[in-house]
Amino acid sequence: MKLHKTFALALSALTLSLAATSAVAQSQVLNLYSARHYASDEIIFNEFTRTTGIRINRVEADDAGIVARLRAEGAASPADVVLMVDAARLARADAEGLFQPIKSAALDAAIPATLRAAATPDGITWTGFSKRARVIAYDPTRVRSEDVQTYEQLADPKLRGMLCSRSGSHPYNLSLFATVVERLGDQQGEAWLQGLVNNLARQPVGGDTDQIRAVASGECAVAITNSYYAARLIRSDRPADRAVMERVRIVHPNQATSGTHVNIAGGAVARHAPNRANAIKFMEFLATPFAQEYFANGNNEYPTAQGVTVNNPALTALGGDNFKQETIPLAVVAQNLTKIQQMLDRVRFR
Ligand code: FE
Repeated sequence: MKLHKTFALALSALTLSLAATSAVAQSQVLNLYSARHYASDEIIFNEFTRTTGIRINRVEADDAGIVARLRAEGAASPADVVLMVDAARLARADAEGLFQPIKSAALDAAIPATLRAAATPDGITWTGFSKRARVIAYDPTRVRSEDVQTYEQLADPKLRGMLCSRSGSHPYNLSLFATVVERLGDQQGEAWLQGLVNNLARQPVGGDTDQIRAVASGECAVAITNSYYAARLIRSDRPADRAVMERVRIVHPNQATSGTHVNIAGGAVARHAPNRANAIKFMEFLATPFAQEYFANGNNEYPTAQGVTVNNPALTALGGDNFKQETIPLAVVAQNLTKIQQMLDRVRFR
């Protein structure tokens, strides 16, 4: 009897200690799927591990690769946090059910609601951790500054044959278009998209940097680009890149009206996160001033956390972050994506 009791006690102690061991082992890990690949991100990850003891296992792929992997893994996915670039991509992954909502007072306090997914009773899925502006690049020898101060003006017949663009359905453009159409209304919004197509100097091709180069080379006179591509050329070691930016002017559009469209790189907790508590801890860490500075500077972006600023000479050269920003929440991108894609098909914006 006594022996039994002792044995039972020992057994339960063993069970307890095993449970404790596995709880500790589990709390030590975070599986991160990242579509961002900057050296400065390492500094963030190392500091997170140093201060929390949580080791980060990283899977790096592009956004499409991450989505494909999450889909294939399903409920067995080890992913805890997913980092992606642009609200349109985050919104699509969210619509597929690849994320889960979380509640975090720290994130609510640090990150403006306009730079996050829509709030639901269960919480919020994706959150923006760095911010970029979608700006206009133009050739001052061919276009007057006052004719390219707004997104709306880019559809003006005055600019016929002068506009360069990457694919209309690239996430960067989808997000911008979703916001502009939200403001203009469907009818005017589609007419605006048609106006952009009418003004194209060539079929959409290449990325944002290619559009800036095309303005500098004279292939077109106006283009739209994310701000960090312009900053990257300004900071480039190659004189030819810096020469490009000497021929091009950058405008933060809609300063007298609705403000410049800003987008994000951001993250979300994966739907089946095995280490959910660590995932939330990591998301909250990304919103701290320390992480914000490295996260933003790594790609010449702005921090999203309120009250955090970065010192980046290229961004200062572009006018800094004191510009007026669009106030329509990025969550409308999620609501408008399908509609915008249909409009693009109708106006044949490839
Ligand atoms: Fe980019």
